[in-house]
Amino acid sequence: MYCALCNQNKKPKIEVLGLGMCNSCMEELSSTPVIGTKYDYYKEVIKIALRNYIYERVEINPVK
Ligand SMILES: [Zn+2]
Repeated sequence: MYCALCNQNKKPKIEVLGLGMCNSCMEELSSTPVIGTKYDYYKEVIKIALRNYIYERVEINPVK
């Protein structure tokens, strides 16, 4: 399973919104200041992850 942020095939420490995230990325994410280019990047990743997650849920459990 690939890390959702660095795309490296590390063993994901945690799973967020259906995506694996390695420990180093998680630490970096939690220590990233609100103002900064990296934060914007992570924000986009989370946004995409969230959208994919919702999409998958809809596909698996279609609304009756
Ligand atoms: Zn990573």
